[in-house]
Amino acid sequence: MALDDLYREVIMDHYKRPRNRGTLDDADVVVEGANPLCGDEVTLWLEIDDGTVTGVRFAGHGCSISQASASIMTEAIEGRPLGEIDEIVQALRGMMLEGEEPNEDLLGDGIALEGVRQFPVRIKCAVLGWNTLQLGLKQFADSGGKPVEAHHRE
Ligand code: ZN
Repeated sequence: MALDDLYREVIMDHYKRPRNRGTLDDADVVVEGANPLCGDEVTLWLEIDDGTVTGVRFAGHGCSISQASASIMTEAIEGRPLGEIDEIVQALRGMMLEGEEPNEDLLGDGIALEGVRQFPVRIKCAVLGWNTLQLGLKQFADSGGKPVEAHHRE
């Protein structure tokens, strides 16, 4: 099987069977992200305890890449401390935007998104969930750890 096919299969699997889809009642962070270019929307709910993301859910609609990427992101960050999540987001952005080597230890299935770089107009679809996450966590830090609601637009 060609590497491209393997990557496509991982993305389609997350699109058809999204992980952590749903909402959380007592989220510390609720953040909505939109990519108007493609009509993609992703909303994230995060529970944060002692500097660790203990719960994460997402909802949204849009193209398969945006929704699969959000599903992949939730798996990559659940149970991780905020400092590590920062590294994970940087690794994803570095891979997608700067052409850095994929880091499977940090990104898990996220390395499959590298294939999207062949289609530059879709890169925004692939980074939407991750940029949305980053904005939500930044506002949470800025609030001193109080619950926040935030909005991100690509
Ligand atoms: Zn899209």
